[in-house]
Amino acid sequence: MNTLVDRFGRRIEYLRLSVTDRCDLRCAYCIPEGFKGFEEPDHWLTFDEIERLIRLFADLGLKRLRLTGGEPLLRKNITDLCRRVAAIPGIEDLSISTNATQLAHMARDLKQAGVTRLNVSLDSLRPEGVERINGRPVLDKILAGLDAGRDAGFRPIKVNMVAMRENADEIDDIVAYCMEKGFVLRLIEVMPMGDTARKMGYVDLQPVKARLQKRFGLVDTVLSGGGPARYLGTPDGGFTVGFITPISQHFCETCNRVRLTVDGILHLCLGQEERMDFRTLMRGGATDKEITEAIRLAIDLKPERHEFTEAPQKLVRFMSMTGG
Ligand code: SAM
Repeated sequence: MNTLVDRFGRRIEYLRLSVTDRCDLRCAYCIPEGFKGFEEPDHWLTFDEIERLIRLFADLGLKRLRLTGGEPLLRKNITDLCRRVAAIPGIEDLSISTNATQLAHMARDLKQAGVTRLNVSLDSLRPEGVERINGRPVLDKILAGLDAGRDAGFRPIKVNMVAMRENADEIDDIVAYCMEKGFVLRLIEVMPMGDTARKMGYVDLQPVKARLQKRFGLVDTVLSGGGPARYLGTPDGGFTVGFITPISQHFCETCNRVRLTVDGILHLCLGQEERMDFRTLMRGGATDKEITEAIRLAIDLKPERHEFTEAPQKLVRFMSMTGG
């Protein structure tokens, strides 16, 4: 059995694949202020190119694939891509990160196309909060999308809330909402990716975790998924909340993922610059064997850890470009 293991002994089995860098929202921490437009689609990998690359990754032991962006549901014919990559031998889990604005009319088709899990961004339950943080008045659409995802049978649905000074007073309301709906909540510390995100008021989730644990009587819980969140839950298992704490308690030693941008650049770390250009390679006529070799070389470049705390100015790349 082929495996991809980096220099630090970490087995790489997980790829986050950005299928578009476009998004219909303007989340203050994700897209730079004054942002004018997105790159032209002729740079984007085609579905054929994506399928080929994922097949070669899967031959090397890739098991889990997450489609992200930008907003992945804005990529034309995304359900066709889902069907194609879900059918690749070795891919056991196909998930999507979405802002849910398009989910109400797409949830069923995505489920039928083989998507197994959904992560949905929700930073506020107040209409004006969503408009301020996410840049568009779309709370109703998001909530309708979440309901449609649940009705289509996605379990669990994970709700991602980036915790900032701007919405810290809403954490308990979002806990209550997720408890009622049966969603898993994940609270995320804002990462200093670009000036806009650096300006957001960082909230340390360690005290929040201690407070929620006490208030709701939560106990340590394990949730499968291979991700970095540390989970707490109600003793009856009815509600689970995860804490993704890249700043206050980084989790690089267990990082099992790499990220591919829509234009075919493989990033080895969210917070570092190591990368490999697979679009140029594929369009230059590389054989499957040469691409497989390049994947191995790229994995060898994976750095030990990010430096968000020591060097927050270092990164000039936004989450919307890399694929969150
Ligand atoms: N549009 C999709 C969505 O909303 O899930 C997928 C892309 S979005 C970039 C993926 C995730 O990255 C979202 O949960 C978003 O909140 C998170 N994100 C973006 N910028 C971030 C930052 N600077 N720090 C922490 N999380 C961030």
